Amino acid sequence: MLTIRLYGDPILRRKAAPIGAVTDELRSLADGMIEAMQVEDGVGLSAPQVGVLGRLIVATPDPEDLDSEPVPLVNPVVERAQGEWTEEEGCLSLPDVYAEVTRPETVDVRALDMDGKDMSFAANGWFARVILHEIDHLNGVLFIDHLSSAERGRLRGQLERITRRARETMEGQG
Ligand SMILES: [Zn+2]
Repeated sequence: MLTIRLYGDPILRRKAAPIGAVTDELRSLADGMIEAMQVEDGVGLSAPQVGVLGRLIVATPDPEDLDSEPVPLVNPVVERAQGEWTEEEGCLSLPDVYAEVTRPETVDVRALDMDGKDMSFAANGWFARVILHEIDHLNGVLFIDHLSSAERGRLRGQLERITRRARETMEGQG
Protein backbone atom coordinates (compact mmCIF):
# COMPACT_ATOMS: atom_id res chain seq x y z
CA MET A 1 0.00 0.00 0.00
CA LEU A 2 1.29 3.45 -0.92
CA THR A 3 1.72 5.91 1.94
CA ILE A 4 0.12 9.33 1.55
CA ARG A 5 2.56 12.12 2.39
CA LEU A 6 1.38 14.71 4.87
CA TYR A 7 1.60 18.50 4.88
CA GLY A 8 5.10 19.41 6.06
CA ASP A 9 6.74 16.77 3.87
CA PRO A 10 8.92 18.83 1.49
CA ILE A 11 8.02 16.67 -1.52
CA LEU A 12 4.56 18.31 -1.54
CA ARG A 13 6.21 21.64 -2.40
CA ARG A 14 8.23 20.37 -5.36
CA LYS A 15 7.25 20.53 -9.02
CA ALA A 16 6.59 17.18 -10.70
CA ALA A 17 8.31 16.35 -14.02
CA PRO A 18 6.45 15.45 -17.25
CA ILE A 19 6.09 11.72 -17.84
CA GLY A 20 7.89 10.52 -20.97
CA ALA A 21 6.13 7.22 -21.60
CA VAL A 22 3.18 5.32 -20.18
CA THR A 23 4.71 2.07 -18.96
CA ASP A 24 3.47 -0.91 -16.96
CA GLU A 25 5.23 0.61 -13.98
CA LEU A 26 3.20 3.82 -14.38
CA ARG A 27 -0.04 1.83 -14.77
CA SER A 28 0.62 -0.03 -11.52
CA LEU A 29 1.44 3.28 -9.81
CA ALA A 30 -1.95 4.63 -10.98
CA ASP A 31 -3.70 1.49 -9.67
CA GLY A 32 -1.91 1.87 -6.34
CA MET A 33 -2.91 5.54 -6.15
CA ILE A 34 -6.56 4.70 -6.79
CA GLU A 35 -6.43 2.06 -4.06
CA ALA A 36 -4.76 4.39 -1.54
CA MET A 37 -7.25 7.15 -2.39
CA GLN A 38 -10.30 4.92 -2.00
CA VAL A 39 -9.09 3.48 1.33
CA GLU A 40 -9.05 7.07 2.62
CA ASP A 41 -12.41 7.95 0.99
CA GLY A 42 -10.70 10.51 -1.23
CA VAL A 43 -11.92 11.68 -4.65
CA GLY A 44 -8.54 12.60 -6.14
CA LEU A 45 -4.83 12.02 -5.62
CA SER A 46 -1.58 13.15 -7.25
CA ALA A 47 1.70 11.24 -7.63
CA PRO A 48 3.70 13.66 -5.42
CA GLN A 49 1.32 12.78 -2.57
CA VAL A 50 2.64 9.21 -2.71
CA GLY A 51 6.25 10.34 -3.08
CA VAL A 52 6.61 10.27 -6.88
CA LEU A 53 7.52 13.52 -8.68
CA GLY A 54 5.81 12.69 -11.99
CA ARG A 55 2.82 14.38 -13.60
CA LEU A 56 0.18 11.73 -12.88
CA ILE A 57 -3.15 12.30 -11.14
CA VAL A 58 -6.26 10.25 -10.49
CA ALA A 59 -9.67 11.94 -10.27
CA THR A 60 -13.19 10.67 -9.64
CA PRO A 61 -15.64 12.04 -12.24
CA ASP A 62 -18.65 12.08 -9.90
CA PRO A 63 -17.58 12.13 -6.25
CA GLU A 64 -21.23 11.80 -5.17
CA ASP A 65 -21.60 8.49 -7.01
CA LEU A 66 -19.93 5.50 -5.33
CA ASP A 67 -19.80 3.64 -8.67
CA SER A 68 -17.93 6.47 -10.40
CA GLU A 69 -14.61 4.98 -11.60
CA PRO A 70 -11.53 7.16 -10.92
CA VAL A 71 -9.70 8.23 -14.07
CA PRO A 72 -5.88 8.39 -14.26
CA LEU A 73 -4.56 11.38 -16.23
CA VAL A 74 -0.94 11.64 -17.37
CA ASN A 75 0.60 15.10 -17.97
CA PRO A 76 -2.80 16.81 -17.53
CA VAL A 77 -3.13 20.39 -18.80
CA VAL A 78 -6.06 22.80 -18.49
CA GLU A 79 -6.49 24.46 -21.86
CA ARG A 80 -9.49 26.63 -21.01
CA ALA A 81 -11.30 27.50 -17.81
CA GLN A 82 -14.67 29.19 -17.43
CA GLY A 83 -16.96 30.36 -14.65
CA GLU A 84 -16.28 30.43 -10.96
CA TRP A 85 -17.71 28.74 -7.88
CA THR A 86 -16.81 28.35 -4.26
CA GLU A 87 -17.04 25.12 -2.29
CA GLU A 88 -15.45 23.53 0.73
CA GLU A 89 -12.37 21.45 -0.11
CA GLY A 90 -10.15 19.04 1.74
CA CYS A 91 -6.99 17.09 0.92
CA LEU A 92 -5.66 13.65 1.93
CA SER A 93 -2.32 15.32 2.76
CA LEU A 94 -4.13 17.70 5.14
CA PRO A 95 -6.39 15.41 7.20
CA ASP A 96 -9.41 17.13 8.78
CA VAL A 97 -8.59 20.53 7.26
CA TYR A 98 -11.45 22.02 5.25
CA ALA A 99 -11.88 25.45 3.72
CA GLU A 100 -13.82 27.13 0.95
CA VAL A 101 -11.88 27.57 -2.29
CA THR A 102 -12.99 29.46 -5.40
CA ARG A 103 -12.16 27.73 -8.68
CA PRO A 104 -13.33 27.70 -12.31
CA GLU A 105 -16.56 25.78 -12.90
CA THR A 106 -15.76 24.25 -16.30
CA VAL A 107 -12.40 23.26 -17.72
CA ASP A 108 -11.13 21.80 -20.99
CA VAL A 109 -8.48 19.24 -20.15
CA ARG A 110 -5.86 17.56 -22.30
CA ALA A 111 -3.90 14.55 -21.03
CA LEU A 112 -2.60 11.12 -21.95
CA ASP A 113 -4.63 8.07 -20.99
CA MET A 114 -3.16 4.85 -19.60
CA ASP A 115 -2.48 3.61 -23.16
CA GLY A 116 -0.37 6.71 -23.77
CA LYS A 117 -2.99 8.14 -26.15
CA ASP A 118 -3.92 11.82 -26.31
CA MET A 119 -7.33 12.70 -24.96
CA SER A 120 -9.23 15.91 -24.35
CA PHE A 121 -12.52 16.44 -22.63
CA ALA A 122 -14.58 19.02 -20.76
CA ALA A 123 -15.11 18.63 -17.02
CA ASN A 124 -17.68 20.45 -14.91
CA GLY A 125 -18.33 21.07 -11.25
CA TRP A 126 -16.68 18.64 -8.85
CA PHE A 127 -14.74 16.78 -11.56
CA ALA A 128 -13.23 20.10 -12.69
CA ARG A 129 -12.49 21.03 -9.08
CA VAL A 130 -10.75 17.73 -8.35
CA ILE A 131 -8.64 17.95 -11.54
CA LEU A 132 -7.61 21.55 -10.72
CA HIS A 133 -6.77 20.59 -7.12
CA GLU A 134 -4.62 17.66 -8.29
CA ILE A 135 -2.86 19.66 -11.04
CA ASP A 136 -2.01 22.20 -8.32
CA HIS A 137 -0.24 19.36 -6.46
CA LEU A 138 1.90 18.70 -9.57
CA ASN A 139 3.11 22.29 -9.24
CA GLY A 140 3.76 22.11 -5.49
CA VAL A 141 0.60 24.08 -4.73
CA LEU A 142 -1.84 23.12 -1.95
CA PHE A 143 -5.47 24.21 -1.59
CA ILE A 144 -4.64 26.26 1.49
CA ASP A 145 -2.44 28.46 -0.74
CA HIS A 146 -5.67 29.80 -2.27
CA LEU A 147 -6.92 31.07 1.11
CA SER A 148 -6.55 34.53 2.61
CA SER A 149 -3.88 34.92 5.27
CA ALA A 150 -6.66 35.39 7.86
CA GLU A 151 -8.13 32.03 6.91
CA ARG A 152 -4.75 30.33 6.95
CA GLY A 153 -4.27 31.86 10.39
CA ARG A 154 -7.48 30.19 11.53
CA LEU A 155 -6.03 26.83 10.42
CA ARG A 156 -2.55 27.39 11.88
CA GLY A 157 -2.95 25.10 14.90
CA GLN A 158 -4.19 22.26 12.71
CA LEU A 159 -1.40 22.79 10.17
CA GLU A 160 1.24 22.70 12.90
CA ARG A 161 -0.16 19.44 14.25
CA ILE A 162 -0.05 17.83 10.79
CA THR A 163 3.52 19.11 10.24
CA ARG A 164 4.58 17.44 13.50
CA ARG A 165 2.96 14.18 12.40
CA ALA A 166 4.70 14.41 9.00
CA ARG A 167 8.04 14.94 10.72
CA GLU A 168 7.51 11.94 13.01
CA THR A 169 6.55 9.77 10.03
CA MET A 170 9.64 10.86 8.07
CA GLU A 171 11.89 10.16 11.07
CA GLY A 172 10.21 6.78 11.51
CA GLN A 173 11.14 5.92 7.93
CA GLY A 174 14.76 6.78 8.75
ZN1 LIG B 1 -4.83 17.40 -2.22
